[in-house]
Amino acid sequence: MITITCDICKKKMDNPITGVTFHYYSNHSICEPCKDSLELQTKYAVRDKEPFLYDWYNKHMADALNKAVQKGKI
Ligand SMILES: [Zn+2]
Repeated sequence: MITITCDICKKKMDNPITGVTFHYYSNHSICEPCKDSLELQTKYAVRDKEPFLYDWYNKHMADALNKAVQKGKI
């Protein structure tokens, strides 16, 4: 059995399915709820940003992820 620990909430995932129950972003393994929260947080920031720049979005996601990993929460 493979067990992966979410880098943000430290929840353990047994037999994770990449891209479904577990996601890999910027060298971090994150679970589905953490990914959803992160995307939601980024979505709000994107609304205030015109025009939409994909590079900016990616950078914002990576920054938010790194901060969340350091804090241990989103
Ligand atoms: Zn998590």
